[in-house]
Amino acid sequence: MADMAKYVYYFGAGKAEGTAQMKELLGGKGANLAEMNNLNIPVPAGFTISTEVCTWYYDHDLQYPADLDEQVVDALSRVERGMDANFGDASDPLLLSIRSGSRSSMPGMMDTILNLGLNDTTVEGLIEQSGDARFAYDSYRRFVQMYGDVVMGVRPEGKDDHDPFEVILEAKKQANGVEQDVDLSAEDLKSLVTEYKTMVKVRTGHNFPDDPHEQLWGAIGAVFGSWNNERAIVYRKLNNIPDEWGTAVNVQAMVYGNMGDDCATGVAFSRDPATGEKVFYGEYLKNAQGEDVVAGTRTPVQIEHLDADMPEAYAQLIDIYKKLETHYKDMQDFEFTIQRNKLWMLQTRVGKRTGFAAIRIAVDMVEEGLINEEEALRRVEPDQLNQLLRPVFDVDEKRKAEEAGCVLAKGLNAGPGAASGKVVFNAHDAEEWANRGDRVILVRIETSPEDIRGMNAADGILTARGGMTSHAALVARQMGKICVAGCSALDINYQTRQMTVSGRVIKEGEYISIDGTTGEVIEGAIPTIPSEVLQVLQEKTLVPEQSQIFRQYDHLMKWADKVRRLKIRTNADQPDQSATARVFGAEGIGLCRTEHMFFEEDRIDAMREMILAEDESGRRVALAKLLPIQRADFTSIFEVMDGYPVTIRTLDPPLNEFLPHEDEAIEQLAGHMGVAAQTLKKKVEDLKETNPMLGHRGCRLGIVYPEITEMQTRAIFEAASDCQKRGIQVIPEIMIPLVGHVNELKLQADIVRQTAEAVKAETGIEVAYHVGTMIELPRAALTANEIAEVAEFFSFGTNDLTQTTFGLSRDDANFLPDYLQREIWPEDPFVSIDLNGVGELVKIGVERGRSVRPDIKIGICGEHGGDPASVEFCHRMGLDYVSCSPFRVPIARLAAARAALEG
Ligand code: PEP
Ligand code: MG
Repeated sequence: MADMAKYVYYFGAGKAEGTAQMKELLGGKGANLAEMNNLNIPVPAGFTISTEVCTWYYDHDLQYPADLDEQVVDALSRVERGMDANFGDASDPLLLSIRSGSRSSMPGMMDTILNLGLNDTTVEGLIEQSGDARFAYDSYRRFVQMYGDVVMGVRPEGKDDHDPFEVILEAKKQANGVEQDVDLSAEDLKSLVTEYKTMVKVRTGHNFPDDPHEQLWGAIGAVFGSWNNERAIVYRKLNNIPDEWGTAVNVQAMVYGNMGDDCATGVAFSRDPATGEKVFYGEYLKNAQGEDVVAGTRTPVQIEHLDADMPEAYAQLIDIYKKLETHYKDMQDFEFTIQRNKLWMLQTRVGKRTGFAAIRIAVDMVEEGLINEEEALRRVEPDQLNQLLRPVFDVDEKRKAEEAGCVLAKGLNAGPGAASGKVVFNAHDAEEWANRGDRVILVRIETSPEDIRGMNAADGILTARGGMTSHAALVARQMGKICVAGCSALDINYQTRQMTVSGRVIKEGEYISIDGTTGEVIEGAIPTIPSEVLQVLQEKTLVPEQSQIFRQYDHLMKWADKVRRLKIRTNADQPDQSATARVFGAEGIGLCRTEHMFFEEDRIDAMREMILAEDESGRRVALAKLLPIQRADFTSIFEVMDGYPVTIRTLDPPLNEFLPHEDEAIEQLAGHMGVAAQTLKKKVEDLKETNPMLGHRGCRLGIVYPEITEMQTRAIFEAASDCQKRGIQVIPEIMIPLVGHVNELKLQADIVRQTAEAVKAETGIEVAYHVGTMIELPRAALTANEIAEVAEFFSFGTNDLTQTTFGLSRDDANFLPDYLQREIWPEDPFVSIDLNGVGELVKIGVERGRSVRPDIKIGICGEHGGDPASVEFCHRMGLDYVSCSPFRVPIARLAAARAALEG
């Protein structure tokens, strides 16, 4: 029987009808107010109207359930008794605050009304109680202003209009020759109330309500109404909060922190929300209202000074915060008011925190016995680890730059961390300038494999075009470079070596700073601080005992490793990247992109020679030059990865990526190689493809030019034999890319096996190895059962699989931001696996592959391997490992652990 339902939940004086568990019904704020009462913490009495009423209200044409009125009246009289004051009373009026409160916090999105219950009669009672007419009239005029705005809709009409209440207030100040609100007298404020009410009547045609009960219902309706205001709707969308949840309404007795010098108000945290340190952290203001602390009109005082100001209240506050934290077993963020030396708690909730703080608090709380290791893993979002690994901007310096208007633009936060340096516009300069000791930011319209060395030399990379899996983004993450990609506001001119952005011209050599965590591009240099984790693990300039941050990181990672099932590998093609990944805990290489090895100065020539060769024998001559170089590369990688598997992929990109495209560069190269410029131009022309991503690449290269696969395989096995001979444990896995038909794999696998046999015959050393394939085309996933007849392992190349499933070019998806903005896709499918499409193909691939070869090893090596949501998906699909860029290895370890905890 709906009419008998309970809609209103009272709390006050150590008793409450709700509990912290009732968030769905009472909203976060209401549930915690109830809980604090249950814990005997002083909270002004009040009641919560449940979220069910909100839903009912919207389902019934903005009407309330029949019983609500009676339940509100009843609860209100309990509040009156609890606070020993009466609503509407002429000498000791109870005044109320009306606040929203949904299940999940939506800060500032919905409406609040304070000082409700004031009228020309009750204000006299407030004067009597407070002994302060100015205070009483100031409360009254604030109430009329808030109520007029929120309930009666009196607010600026056009975007150029001023707030009508502020206009009257300004005029009053001018008329009295004062600058600050506080300089207005009680009389001035009293006449403001009248002027406000007159203006409200003129604008709305309605009298401002004097009856406190009418005021109360108006306010309740406005709070329910604010659930559907525009900003609340937008916030819900952004934060995935369902529209059906609705808000609760909290009606609570007002207490005042601005009744004199024995009053105060403040906000505090049970630990430092920025660092996580176990210290009481907060701020307060004497003789002030809550909004004064937040608004920054007066500078608040550090909480510890309260001890001297109001020792009793301070001691009580200390007891309360400890009690709250022990009870909730998490860091609390709370608001309090001290009225006439009496402390009141107004709200408590789990506090928001930085990545640093999240990790420190989780680890400390395990050590304190408050939570267990598994709960600690649940408390840290994998991406928060980023903050521990990257250099960061000095916070104060960055704020200064922001305040000085130095933020130029925003792009995609492709490679997290902070970098500052001189702008250069090409890879060559990046290298040269870096070699002479400059810190540089390489700014390109987009990057290509030719830029690799410059990218490596730069501290940061900034591009105007490209998404999260653009070349710049992918390579930057793998290198651990700070990168902002796709910053379309940049107008870059390579010729004049300058860029224009936000009307400002930045020339080569000028300083900029980029924040790869937020995507901001900032003019000027901002100092950075290196990550302590890296100082311990990689640079070895710190020992663990010297770094608390490192020790916390290390604890968390060890706990994660205990529970995760997925193995974590890395995408690396250089020994230094492999070494970085190892110190981050990588358990092997899941993808070594061999083409990245061909761009160094001494190799690109041989590569180009191979491409330009007329026939097979010409190609073999050039390949013979590449062989020792590749062998040396593989040797150093095997050395670093001693005892761990190394998946090496045969050549993948279209050959034209290895040739220059501009006339001048072509002519230069022709001269260098001793061929006619025309010949070279023709070759470049021949190799040009309309859709190179779908063209002659992947295994199609090795099929047309088997000698390339042969040379690469030989280099792998010669290196492996050599390492094995020296006692290094090598576990090579040779991976064939872009297979769409099992016959492609058969041909390539035959070459690999024959070459392995040949090397074995020459060296007398038998190296155990596996041959497998990437599953990165829909046809490969669909025919995985056929492919698994040949493949000994699968690795899902979800970059290409996303590209080919969506029919969407990785390099040309300029419309992607529009799609995301219009929510056609909930997320960038190159960042997080598209579960319904690409994910379904992965599922099919796994099922069909295992149906033929039940123990087939399956991993993923697309960029998704480092995305926590995708890692969770891989865990559910029963994959054996994920492979990601070195700096994402710790993130994947934690994500895999959290996925295992989810079951
Ligand atoms: C992939 O396609 O997911 C992959 C890892 O290969 P690449 O990004 O080199 O094409
Ligand atoms: Mg691929």
